Amino acid sequence: MEHQKPDFEVGIIGGGPGGASLAAYLAKAGVKCIVFERELFPRPHVGESLVPSSTRVFNDLGFLEQMESAKFPRKFGAVWTANEQARPYAAEWDGLGPDCHAEVRFEERAQPGVHKNYTYHVDRGKFDLMLLQHAHKLGATVCEGVRVSGVDFSSQQPSVRFNVGPKEMGINVRMVVDASGRQTMLGNQLKLKVKDPMFDQFAIHTWFGGFDRNSLAKSSEQGDYIYIHFLPISNTWVWQIPITDDITSIGVVTQKANFAGSKQDREKFFWSALETRPSLAAALRKSEQIGKFKEEGDYSYAMKQICGDRFMMVGDAGRFVDPIFSTGVSIALNSSRFAHKDILGALERNDFSRESFQNFEKTIGRGTKNWYDFINVYYRLNVLFTYFITDRRYRLDVLKLLQGDVYDEAQPEVLAKMRAMVSKVEQNPKHPWHGLLNDLTTHAFTPAASITDQMLADVAGMGERDDDLVAV
Ligand SMILES: Cc1cc2nc3c(=O)[nH]c(=O)nc-3n(C[C@H](O)[C@H](O)[C@H](O)COP(=O)(O)OP(=O)(O)OC[C@H]3O[C@@H](n4cnc5c(N)ncnc54)[C@H](O)[C@@H]3O)c2cc1C
Repeated sequence: MEHQKPDFEVGIIGGGPGGASLAAYLAKAGVKCIVFERELFPRPHVGESLVPSSTRVFNDLGFLEQMESAKFPRKFGAVWTANEQARPYAAEWDGLGPDCHAEVRFEERAQPGVHKNYTYHVDRGKFDLMLLQHAHKLGATVCEGVRVSGVDFSSQQPSVRFNVGPKEMGINVRMVVDASGRQTMLGNQLKLKVKDPMFDQFAIHTWFGGFDRNSLAKSSEQGDYIYIHFLPISNTWVWQIPITDDITSIGVVTQKANFAGSKQDREKFFWSALETRPSLAAALRKSEQIGKFKEEGDYSYAMKQICGDRFMMVGDAGRFVDPIFSTGVSIALNSSRFAHKDILGALERNDFSRESFQNFEKTIGRGTKNWYDFINVYYRLNVLFTYFITDRRYRLDVLKLLQGDVYDEAQPEVLAKMRAMVSKVEQNPKHPWHGLLNDLTTHAFTPAASITDQMLADVAGMGERDDDLVAV
C-alpha cells in the first residue's frame, strides 16, 4: 500500500559497474538503497578496457585514489593495426599508412572534467569488487548471492522478488533500477527487448601470460595501449588488453556466421583467425594461455524504452551494441551519473512516473545513438574510421568520441561526415573503397544505410575532401 513505509527507497538489480556506481551515487546523497547481486564477488567478467570518461564518475564518487592504488595498467591511448598484404587497395587511402598502424594518445585532446591523460585497463573481478565495496562503504546495502527472479509492479510500491532457499521473499521499494547487464532482467520481464537480427557478433577470449605486447608496437611506450588488430576476415578483429605486467587479455570478435560456418571448435577458430596475422600469432604462441577460452555471443539489442513508471535501466541492461570502442563500462558508469540526478528529483517530488526520468532517457538516448552510429559506420566501412583518425581535420573530433564524450551533442558533425562519405562510396562503384563495403549494418533500430536526405543536406559543403574521396 502506498502509505506503508518501503523497506528501501531504491532497489538495484545487479552489482556490476552500472549497479555499484549507481548505489554509490545514491548512498553518497543519503538515499537508502539496496543492491541484489546474484554472484559472489570477485567473479570474472568480460570488458576490461576503460575509456577516459569513466574518470568523471570515479572523481564524483571519491574512487579515483583507489583506482590509483590498485595499480591497474594505465591506458594512455589506442593503436589499430592491419596486415598490409590483406589490403587489395592503395594504403594511402585508408589512413593506416604503408606500415598499417594508426594510433591516438588521449592527451591530444583536453577533456573537460578529466584531469588525467590516461584511463585504465582492469581485471574485472578485482575492479567490480572494489566498486561494489565502495558503494557499501558509502552506505548502500549489498546482498551478494541473491538472484532476483522478478519485480512485482502490481502495487504502488514495487516488490523485488528473490528466493532464500525454497522460500520466495520480496523487498518493497519506491522504484527499481535494472543493472543486470546482458541478463536484461526487467527488459525480459516487461517484454521490452528488441534483438538485432543482423548484428550478431560473437567473441572468444582468454588471458595469456608472458605475451610480448610490444610485438606489433612501434614504440615500447605503446605496450600498454589497447590494440585493435584488424584481421583479413570480414568484420573480424582482435583485442589486446593488458591486465597486469605479465597478463594480457586477447579476444577475437567475429560474426557468428563466420564461427558457425567454420565447423571447427572454438579454440581452433581462435587460432586459425589469429594465423591470418602471422606475426601476432607467432608472438602469442610463445606465451602461455591462462584459463579456458570463454565466449560471448549474440549480444546486440536495445529496449523499446529504458525507463517507465517506477523503473529505469542502466548499463547493458538498457542496451548493448558492440565492444569495438571499449565503451561498455563507461556507458554503465555514466548512465548512473545521469540516472542518479533524476532519481534524486523523483524522490524529492515523490513522483516516480516515466516523465521524472526524462533527462536520463534523453541524455543516454543521445549518447548511445552516437555510439551506435559510430559503430555502424565503422563496420560498414572499416577504412573510413582509420582514415578519419589519421586526418588532422577530424582527428580530435574522433578522439572525443573515443574518450567517451558522446552525450553533449545530438548530431556530432564528424559522424554526419562519416555517414555522408559512406553514402558516397556506396553510390560510386568506381570508388577505391567500394569493394571494401561490408554488408554488416545494424538494422534493428535505424534504417540500414542510416543515411537520410536530411543528413546529406546537413553535411553538404562541409569540406572539399569528401569530393576528393570519390575522384578516382
Ligand atoms: C566481447 C565483449 C567485449 C567487451 N569489451 C569491453 C571493453 O573492452 N571495455 C568496456 O568498457 N566494455 C566492454 N564490454 C562491455 C562490458 O562488458 C559491459 O558493458 C559492462 O560490463 C556493463 O556493466 P553493467 O554493470 O551494465 O553489467 P555487468 O557488468 O554485466 O553487471 C551485471 C551484474 O548483474 C548481475 N545479475 C544479472 N542478473 C541478475 C539477477 N537476476 N539478480 C541479481 N543480479 C543479477 C550479474 O551477476 C552481474 O554481476 C565488452 C563486452 C563484450 C560482450
